[in-house]
Amino acid sequence: MKLQLFNTKLVGMDYKQLSGRDFPRFSGIKTFFRMPFVPVDSDYEVGIVGIPYDGGVSYRPGARFGPSKVRDLSSLGRGYHWSRDVNIIDKIKIADIGDCPTVPIDQQKTYDRIKDYFEHLLSLDKKFIAIGGDHSVTLPLLRAAHKKYGKLRLIHFDAHLDTYPAAWGCEYHHGTFVRHAVEEGLILPEKSIQIGIRGPLTGESDLQFVNQHKILVTTVDDVRANLNSFLNALPDFGDDPVYISFDIDCLDPAYAPGTGTPVPGGLTTYETQKILRALKVNHLVGADIVEVSPPYDSSDITALAAMDTLFELLCLMGLSKKT
Ligand code: MN
Ligand code: MN
Repeated sequence: MKLQLFNTKLVGMDYKQLSGRDFPRFSGIKTFFRMPFVPVDSDYEVGIVGIPYDGGVSYRPGARFGPSKVRDLSSLGRGYHWSRDVNIIDKIKIADIGDCPTVPIDQQKTYDRIKDYFEHLLSLDKKFIAIGGDHSVTLPLLRAAHKKYGKLRLIHFDAHLDTYPAAWGCEYHHGTFVRHAVEEGLILPEKSIQIGIRGPLTGESDLQFVNQHKILVTTVDDVRANLNSFLNALPDFGDDPVYISFDIDCLDPAYAPGTGTPVPGGLTTYETQKILRALKVNHLVGADIVEVSPPYDSSDITALAAMDTLFELLCLMGLSKKT
């Protein structure tokens, strides 16, 4: 066997993972999923991008450190999906394209930079998976995706509805992106779904928005009552452009303690794996994983769950038939 002595994979353009059998998993420069770090205009197909911003949180901060911690836990990333029987690294060109520029003390400037960055990325006909960051970053991501693809169907994993009103006189925070996406006409609410939702809520009025706009809200009870029935009843998204937003707090705090606003009684990592594998989506145009807050994490369990979700999303995106 020829030993790989030089780390050519990181500077090459062959879009292969840094091999754990040539380079121990604790070695090397940390990149998302051990993929090469390349400029935004390189010839990859799916770019993984960090968005280190947490200026929209209402309780515990720290999600600005999410991207670097998910890169760290990417040491354990592997390409072959057992139940799908596919090695996603061989199937599509995946790259770490670095972090989107942000402004830690200015939300509006951050939103503008995110929108500009992702509009540019999408103009190059790339797909992306963004690693946040708090959940407020999804709104500018949807604005950019809407500009390219029109109205999107949203698949939203979360403990929270994220349709909440302004707080402290501020219209934009990490609990409002769904409301703004509907009000700005970015998504088709009656063709979108929320998964993992649970209470308590501030009041009954919190449900008015989703009811009025006919968003399909599914709770942990719906998932837990009978997982297979839940999976079989998931909508078929066909060829419609779909965006997936995965708030890590859809998971129970036992599986994801390192997050800004944890809610007990959540999904297990196994359940979210099963749901992501069961989704019938042919045209996944973009996705994000948000609300990973490493300072509140324990044994990196939350960042590990995020890295595993990243793998499931890469497979779902890579196996999307439509480009
Ligand atoms: Mn959220
Ligand atoms: Mn949430």
